[in-house]
Amino acid sequence: MPSNLVTSISGVGPQAAERLNNLGIRTVTDLLLHMPRDYQDRTRRTLLRDVVDKECVVQGTIVEVAEHYKNQRGIHVFFEDDTGRGALRLLNYGSYQRNSFRIGSWLYVYGKPAYGNTFIHPQYRVFHEDPGEPTPEFRAVYPATAGISSARLGAWIVQSLQETAFFPKFHHDDLTLEQAVREVHRPTPSAYPDSMHAAFERVVFDEMLAFTLVQRRQRQHKDRETDPLRSVEGLEEKLLHDLGFELTGAQKRVADEVLSDLSKPVAMRRLIQGDVGSGKTVVAALAAIRAAENDTQTAIMAPTELLAEQHYQVFSEWLSPLGIEVGLLTSRMPTRQRRSQQDAITNGHAQVVVGTHALFQEKTIFKRLSLSIIDEQHRFGVHQRMQMTGKGENAHQLVLTATPIPRTLALTMFGDLAVSTIDELPPGRTPIRTTIHANEVREDVIAAVEQQLRNGQQVYWVCVAIDENEETNLSASTTTFEQLKERFRNIGVGHVNGRMKVDEKNEVMTAFRDGEVRLLVATTVIEVGIDVSNATVMVIENAERLGLAQLHQLRGRVGRGGEQSYCLLLYQTPLTGSSRERLEAMRRSTDGFELAEVDLKTRGMGQMFGNRQSGVDPFRVASLASFVERYEELGSVSESLLKENPSLADEIIGTWTPEGQGYAAS
Ligand code: ADP
Ligand code: MG
Repeated sequence: MPSNLVTSISGVGPQAAERLNNLGIRTVTDLLLHMPRDYQDRTRRTLLRDVVDKECVVQGTIVEVAEHYKNQRGIHVFFEDDTGRGALRLLNYGSYQRNSFRIGSWLYVYGKPAYGNTFIHPQYRVFHEDPGEPTPEFRAVYPATAGISSARLGAWIVQSLQETAFFPKFHHDDLTLEQAVREVHRPTPSAYPDSMHAAFERVVFDEMLAFTLVQRRQRQHKDRETDPLRSVEGLEEKLLHDLGFELTGAQKRVADEVLSDLSKPVAMRRLIQGDVGSGKTVVAALAAIRAAENDTQTAIMAPTELLAEQHYQVFSEWLSPLGIEVGLLTSRMPTRQRRSQQDAITNGHAQVVVGTHALFQEKTIFKRLSLSIIDEQHRFGVHQRMQMTGKGENAHQLVLTATPIPRTLALTMFGDLAVSTIDELPPGRTPIRTTIHANEVREDVIAAVEQQLRNGQQVYWVCVAIDENEETNLSASTTTFEQLKERFRNIGVGHVNGRMKVDEKNEVMTAFRDGEVRLLVATTVIEVGIDVSNATVMVIENAERLGLAQLHQLRGRVGRGGEQSYCLLLYQTPLTGSSRERLEAMRRSTDGFELAEVDLKTRGMGQMFGNRQSGVDPFRVASLASFVERYEELGSVSESLLKENPSLADEIIGTWTPEGQGYAAS
C-alpha cells in the first residue's frame, strides 16, 4: 500500500505538511475527510454586461496588459467578451504570472468584482485558446490556514481522490464512504445540493460509527488484565500527613475507590467528576504515588501548557519530598530540554510525568507506564484517550473532569468509564457571592473592584467578545486592559490572552500568583485550572454570551481561600428571556450539576457542548447532538459489524483515528 502521509502527495513538502498539521491533517485520509465549508457556484458563465456585486465566472480575450509602478506596484489585465470589458488586477505577482498574460489569450476569472468589472486577486486561469463554456461545477471551499489556501487544499484533494485504497468498503444508505467523499468534494451539478447533503450525512454517519465502534471495543477491553498496584511503603499516608489539610469525606471516598481499583489485576477505567476546587488533584496524586511505589510510571495529561506547568509545580511539591521524581514535558519546551525529559521517561528516571498532548507523540516511550491520568477530560476525545492507552499496554486510566456532564451525555460519551463524584468542597470556603449588572453600570463595578484591590485582594477581569472569536476577543480584552491600567495606575495590572507565547503568558500568570499583578485582564484562556487563593473577585464581561458550564468554571477561579469572594457578571442590554434565566441561575446556584441542567434546557445540547470552546465534542465532522440522537441506531450497527466483520470495523476506526494509529495498540 502506498504511503498515507500527506507528503506522498506530489507538491506537499515538509513545510506544507507542517501547515496541514495545523488543520489536523497528517494523512491523505485526513485530507480527504477535510470537509468543505461552502461551495462556489461555477455552473454558469456571466456576461460582462451582467456582472453585479456577487461571485461569478467571467471569460474573455485579453486585449491589454498594463503594469504600473507608481504608489503601489500592480498589473492590470483587460479582457473583453462580446458584451463588455473587464479588468483583472494583481498587486502581488511574479514574472511567471506577468508573462502568462498574453494579448489574444483567454482569461477565465472567478470572483467578486471589487468595483465595476474589476476583479482584484480573483481566481483565474489563462488559456491559449477559447476553452468554450466552463465545465459546470460547484467548487468546494475549504477551511484554510496560514500559508495554505482553500484552492491549494482543493487541488490536493482532487489529486488524492484518484487514490481510494484508503477507504473501507462499507455500504450504508446506499453509499460507501468513498462515494460520499467524492460527492462532497465534487458535487454532481445536476443533483446539487441534495446529493451533496446526502453524501455529507453519510460522512457524518461514518465518523459517528467509528466513534461508537471505539467505545464498544473499549468496553470489550474493560476487563483487561494488568499488574495490580498495591501499597508498598505507605508513602500515601506520608503525603496525607504532610499536606497540611484533611481530605474531605468525598475525597476520601473517591481516593478509596481509585486505590482499590488500582490494587486489582484489572485495568482501571475511572472518571472523577468534581466541581472546580473540589480537590481532584490530590486524589490523582495519591494514585500516582501508588504507581511509583510499584516502580512504575504515571503520565498526567493537561489540556494547556499553563495547567501542565501548574500541575508540575504541585506534584513536585507533594511528591519530591517522598523521593518521587516528577518530570514535565510540553511541546513548547526547548528541544534539548524536551529530549532530556524524554530520555528520563524512557530510562524510567522520571516517575511521574506531567505534560500536554506532546506526551502522546510516538517519540515518547515510557519505560514502564502503569497509570495515565487525563485532567479536564472534556478537552480530549476518546480517540486521544485511546492513543494514550496505547502507551502503556494495559495502563490504568483515570480521567478528571470539572464539567458536570448530564447523565444522558455521560453515558453516551463515557459509557466505558466508572464514575466517582467528589460532591463536597473543602471546608472553610465561604460560598461565592454572585451578582449581575447591566453594562451601563460598569463604573459601579469598577468602583467595587477598586474597593477590593484596596483591601489587598486580587481580581480577575475576563472579557468575552461578541463572536467568541479569539481575534475580537483579544481586541476587547486589550481595550479593557488599557482602560483599567489607566484607571489603576498604582496597581499592577496584567493581561493574558490566547495569542501570547507560553513564556509571556506564564510570566504574567506567575506575577499574578505572586501578587505583583493584582488585577488580571484575560480572555477566556484562564478558564481551566489555575489556582490563586488570594484572588477573590471575578468580573466577567458579556457574561450572557457564555454557557453556564463555562461561567461556572470561570467563577471557580475565585473562592479558593478563606475570604469572601465575589463574581460580578456584566451583561449587554437588552437581555433576552433565556439569557436572563441563565444569569439568574448563576446567581442562585453554585452547584455545577444544577447549572448544567439549566444550560441543557435553555441552550440545548448542540449549543452547550457543540462548540470548540467547550471541547466536549470529539467529532471532526459530526455533531454531538446528532450522535446522542442516533445513539441506539449506531449501537446496533456497530454490534453487528463487530460480530460479522471485525476487520472491517477496524478499518472504519482506522479511517477516523488521528494519525491513523494508536488505536491498534490499545
Ligand atoms: P480541582 O478539583 O478543581 O482540580 P484542586 O485539586 O486544584 O481542585 O484543589 C483546589 C485547591 O484546594 C488546591 O489549592 C488544593 O490544594 C486545595 N484542597 C484540596 N483538597 C483540600 C482539602 N481537603 N482541604 C483544604 N484544601 C484542599
Ligand atoms: Mg483541576
